Amino acid sequence: MKKRDIIALTAMAVVAAALAVVGCALPIGHHTGRAVCAVYVDGKRVAAFPFDADREYEIITENGTNLLVISDGKAYIAESDCKNLVCVHSGYLTADSSIKPIVCKPHKVTVCTEYE
Ligand SMILES: [Zn+2]
Repeated sequence: MKKRDIIALTAMAVVAAALAVVGCALPIGHHTGRAVCAVYVDGKRVAAFPFDADREYEIITENGTNLLVISDGKAYIAESDCKNLVCVHSGYLTADSSIKPIVCKPHKVTVCTEYE
């Protein structure tokens, strides 16, 4: 195996590992289908909601709870009992913001836009 191949494989493994942690699919190519707000806990998809129906959803994990709110086509973490509150201050997701997931590292929670 050439050195360059090894580097490429390592890079792919790192990306795959990072995605496994986050859980969200990479937004490759053009989006088709309906946008949903997908919720991952510890890499597992636990829920997905359309953006056009307002709701509140408690993401209950073994590390704590996040309150996900969908309102006016925006999804955001309104409350969390994590230490750093990065998730609460991450802003909001919309039907076309698939690149920037909301992550709560202490709770291993990721919320992202996906297309079904
Ligand atoms: Zn958090």
